[in-house]
Amino acid sequence: MFKLVRGFKDILPADTALWQHVEGIVRELLEDFGFSELRIPILEQTELFARSIGASTDIVEKEMYTFTDRGGASLTLRPEATASVVRSYIEHQLYAKDPVRKLYTIGPMFRRERPQKGRYRQFYQINAEVFGLHDPRVDAELILLLMTFIDRLELSGIMLHINSLGCPECRPRFKDALKSFLAGRSEQFCSDCLRRRHENPLRIFDCKVPACKEATMEAPSILDDLCEACRAHFENVKRSLDGFEIPYQINHRLVRGLDYYTRTTFEVLADALGAQDAVAGGGRYDGLVKALGGPDQPGVGFAIGVDRLMELLAGRAQSFQKRPHLYIAALGPNTQERAFEWVQDLRKNKVRTEMDFQDRSLKSQMRRANKLGAGYALIVGERELDEGAAVLRNMTTKEEEGIPLDDLVGLVVKKIKPSTAGSR
Ligand code: AMP
Repeated sequence: MFKLVRGFKDILPADTALWQHVEGIVRELLEDFGFSELRIPILEQTELFARSIGASTDIVEKEMYTFTDRGGASLTLRPEATASVVRSYIEHQLYAKDPVRKLYTIGPMFRRERPQKGRYRQFYQINAEVFGLHDPRVDAELILLLMTFIDRLELSGIMLHINSLGCPECRPRFKDALKSFLAGRSEQFCSDCLRRRHENPLRIFDCKVPACKEATMEAPSILDDLCEACRAHFENVKRSLDGFEIPYQINHRLVRGLDYYTRTTFEVLADALGAQDAVAGGGRYDGLVKALGGPDQPGVGFAIGVDRLMELLAGRAQSFQKRPHLYIAALGPNTQERAFEWVQDLRKNKVRTEMDFQDRSLKSQMRRANKLGAGYALIVGERELDEGAAVLRNMTTKEEEGIPLDDLVGLVVKKIKPSTAGSR
């Protein structure tokens, strides 16, 4: 028997209604905030990710699904979306008419990490990116969008962490401070951290090895080394968040696992998730569009991890499953024929209708109606067919009434739809 590839998973029918519900909420919200959807492929040239995410990150060094295709090109299943969105922004000159663009995309990402609870090799993200605006209020507005989404899902135990990673002017200073810090402590860090310490010492903050995490506790803070412009930017972001009454924690060790970030970075953590507690993360990446060959336009964005959101919402999956409005329990071949037509006509009227195709006993058909959670059952046997009226049974109250067959569809639609249309 074939099995799932390790780290991959199926999202089963019991859960997909909740996924659709969550995606519906976020789409509506993103569109209210002026975003348009961009659909991008899941495969890109390897070089795009290596250049944008950074050659000395965990993602690029050890987690990408990279292969050589039959034409000899090196391709990679996307480990994140920003690089592809930037590629698309540049390739289609989406900046030409107006460099300010707000784009969102929803879909799977691939990283060959060690699978565990909350960490998969294929996982889903909702990504939002804003191009062309330097204003710190844009960073705050994106965070507001993210927190509004979390609020709409009625999640609790959520904390927002924010930091600033400075810019090419002030970050080198901090990198030097960090190198000096590391110089005296090489025995406390793993070989990856030590190897990356010259080129990219900030990576020590992102290392997943517990001893490294512990050892960074005493590291210097980048917030002490910010240049005036970065400091003002960060103050402004905080002021806007205060204005929105969004609580946050300043976390100077928040560097995120990708190298392209500048200035604002943020992460949303959920208590209930345990070790893999980040539900969303993002930040500003002012140099990325230019570095990938585009115009010198700033960018800021976030990614929400949908799988982890779903874990937080797990108890609610059942209430989102779509149930039939009506189940037609038809007895006997002639009645089944008529029922088959009614089913199609009712569906045309948006009444979710199911029937039995096996001509089973009334008892087993009613059992199935119950199992499916149908709101109503329509009971018709050969006798009802002769007499010209079927029985409509409310499955909750058990009330029954006769429905004349000559206008069955019209009457059922009238009876059922006002109360149940749009319901589950
Ligand atoms: P990142 O691009 O690493 O900042 O990830 C953004 C969000 O995607 C995280 O906050 C997680 O919620 C989610 N995420 C990242 N990697 C994984 C993974 N391997 N499995 C499940 N979710 C993930």
